[in-house]
Amino acid sequence: MSRFATGVVVLTVGGEQMHAMTANAFSSVSLAPPTVLCSVAHSAVMHGAITAGERFGVSILGAGQEHLARHFADKKRTLGAAQFDGIDWRPGERTGAPLLSGSLAWLECELTDAHESGDHTIFIGTVLGTGRGTDQPGLLFFDGKFGVPAGQNH
Ligand SMILES: Cc1cc2nc3c(=O)[nH]c(=O)nc-3n(C[C@H](O)[C@H](O)[C@H](O)COP(=O)(O)OP(=O)(O)OC[C@H]3O[C@@H](n4cnc5c(N)ncnc54)[C@H](O)[C@@H]3O)c2cc1C
Repeated sequence: MSRFATGVVVLTVGGEQMHAMTANAFSSVSLAPPTVLCSVAHSAVMHGAITAGERFGVSILGAGQEHLARHFADKKRTLGAAQFDGIDWRPGERTGAPLLSGSLAWLECELTDAHESGDHTIFIGTVLGTGRGTDQPGLLFFDGKFGVPAGQNH
């Protein structure tokens, strides 16, 4: 799967279990109703947070946000609100989930279904609200490395 180029998102949950996690196992599922999926490892803190919170946010990262992708994938980061120290975000109107400033777009979702598969759970979310952000190129992940679409600089 490292040969499959993807975008990169940060999944977030607000409230008492405030948390964020970098993910690329993310996809559109349905247009009516608008639905997306993300696949989260059972071992991730995000697994419990998303299950308990029942609502989550998605920030679609741009090429200038690689540092955020690395930060929210770093197992050494602190838990809770402190992991957002120094990072600009706002709470989503529909979910309260942190939405990262400077992202390409945001989605706010309600957890509507979950399917166990191996060591991950596929979480299905109905999209409650969306927002469009900056027009920079998207952040890509390919062959274990972050990158930018060919021919596009940021
Ligand atoms: C480009 C990219 C794409 C990725 N895509 C995906 C994906 O689609 N799905 C996926 O599942 N993963 C994905 N990952 C991996 C994921 O981002 C990391 O594994 C991430 O660290 C997991 O986030 P987490 O905070 O939920 O869990 P963790 O990193 O396990 O935990 C976060 C922090 O909490 C601490 N902690 C954990 N449990 C406790 C506890 N009980 N008490 C106190 N502290 C604790 C940990 O030590 C750590 O400091 C991706 C990574 C990258 C780089």
